[in-house]
Amino acid sequence: MKLQFHNQRTKKLDEFAPLEQGKVRLYTCGPTVYNSLTVGNWTAYIYWDTLVRVLTAAGYDVTRVMNITDVGHLVSDADEGEDKLEKGARREGKTAWDIAAQYTDDFVKGMHDLNLIAPTYLPKATEYIPQQLALVRTLKEKGYTYQISDGIYFDTAKFPTYGDFADLDLASLKAGARVSYNPEKHTPSDFALWKFTPEGETRDMQWTTPADLTDEHQERPGFPGWHLECSAMAMELLGDSIDIHTGGIDHIPVHHTNEIAQSEAASGQLFAYYWLHNNHLKVDGTKISKSLGNGYTLHDLSKHGFDPLDFRLFILQSHYRTEGNFTFENVTAAKNRRLHWRNIAALRHQTHDTLSPQGRIEEDSATVSLYAAGRALLEALADDLNTPEALAIIDDAFAKVSTAKITSVHHHALIRFLETIDELLGLQLIATTPDITDEVKQLVIQRTRARESKDYAKSDQLRATLEASGIIVRDTPSGVIWEYAA
Ligand SMILES: [Zn+2]
Repeated sequence: MKLQFHNQRTKKLDEFAPLEQGKVRLYTCGPTVYNSLTVGNWTAYIYWDTLVRVLTAAGYDVTRVMNITDVGHLVSDADEGEDKLEKGARREGKTAWDIAAQYTDDFVKGMHDLNLIAPTYLPKATEYIPQQLALVRTLKEKGYTYQISDGIYFDTAKFPTYGDFADLDLASLKAGARVSYNPEKHTPSDFALWKFTPEGETRDMQWTTPADLTDEHQERPGFPGWHLECSAMAMELLGDSIDIHTGGIDHIPVHHTNEIAQSEAASGQLFAYYWLHNNHLKVDGTKISKSLGNGYTLHDLSKHGFDPLDFRLFILQSHYRTEGNFTFENVTAAKNRRLHWRNIAALRHQTHDTLSPQGRIEEDSATVSLYAAGRALLEALADDLNTPEALAIIDDAFAKVSTAKITSVHHHALIRFLETIDELLGLQLIATTPDITDEVKQLVIQRTRARESKDYAKSDQLRATLEASGIIVRDTPSGVIWEYAA
């Protein structure tokens, strides 16, 4: 099956070919665990989960690493300011280690709630310090580093293709950054591989910088830079060259550019062949920011009555490369769409294998279109993860199912299509649509009989009882069907 993705490395749509037949080595930049993720942060993980599902459905054996950044991600991308973990620790009166543990758990729970497939490896940066120091050593031995008062830096001037990935104009970067960048750096784009704990300070998280890495040949306390962590964990767990690397578009000019420079300088190999980036999610048309208080979390969504899967469907409605806009109105629309889809999924409990002769004829066309829709779904996603197109295919197929006579909907074809949707989009249409109990089924039958015998008072009363238990009955030309109440 042909897969193609928009590749930031080549700046075009590239057909996917793995390094090793049948296998994919995938790295996803993971969260910095200093607070609960916002809806904006989650967007990336929903799209990359879809990528994993599509690769798997296309027959690849996917080995995926997603890191946990639990140290070294500074408030500013320019290697300045406080470590986000230490900042979180002060905010909550805890240690950075406590903060990391608490928000790693929070992230894992969120992944579970959103039905995101757990990566093969979920390494914490603090557990890969020796590998990070080894990478600094290799870069130092190859002449790519220099030391200034606050740490060991990568000398980007020594890596001639540094600006290529993000099409950076290094000259204007230099001019523009003149005011704010650390004047000790040789070039504004140089970045910290390893930082020293400032004199007179003790950090919750710090390690010994080996004497052979410092200019003065003395040990001193320090901690890794954020960019270094990703390179070290990716190369340790997946090898020097990987197939696909994913992240947010904000990672392109600094974080991923730096990952590429340090990984390729160290190994001499191309670091990753395909680079996929998701666009931002805005909230009410504006950037998510602390000062606006619009950084909604999954917890906030649940307080507003939304299931995490409503949010998941909402995100999938946009293509990963376009900017999304979160509003409660938009998520409500996604919630209603999901309820409609769940009611279609519930028809599988109301369809049968044995059909009337007329039903069998009608069934043939409905069945064929459901099987075709399943194939079309995978094809849409194989084309640069076209999730809006995939959802449109589902809407079309479901429109046919809901207008077909219930007796002509093939039980197995419907189930197979629902399984395909769940497999590719993780919407749990099957898991969230249980059959009604035998008692409720009896009530449905009694209500139908009451209606047939024109006992409308009884029929209305039974309808009300059913509604109270979350079930709505509808009288359709092909008979009575039940649905879930909103
Ligand atoms: Zn990263």
